[in-house]
Amino acid sequence: MGSLKLLLEARAAGLTVTVQADRLVIRGPKSAAPLARKLIDSKPDVMALLRPPPLRDVQHRKAGCTSQRWWLHVWGEYCCGDCFPCRDEAALVTAGGN
Ligand SMILES: [Zn+2]
Repeated sequence: MGSLKLLLEARAAGLTVTVQADRLVIRGPKSAAPLARKLIDSKPDVMALLRPPPLRDVQHRKAGCTSQRWWLHVWGEYCCGDCFPCRDEAALVTAGGN
């Protein structure tokens, strides 16, 4: 879970980290550059976390829900964006899906 911790630190430092195709895109204040470098050093792990999770790994509250929207909880769990929406911004690492 090292890369999850890095992502949380990055968010706290005001960085936005996204994946575009095979690139890790990091935006934010120059003061957070050392943290951005750490993220780049762990690029494969960080990108794995930000990529859409396998659907079976997403937790739903509603049986039979087929939503493909998801968000990543700070505990490292993927939750459904529709039937298990994030109620606390502080618990959200990243979100995605349609
Ligand atoms: Zn759902």
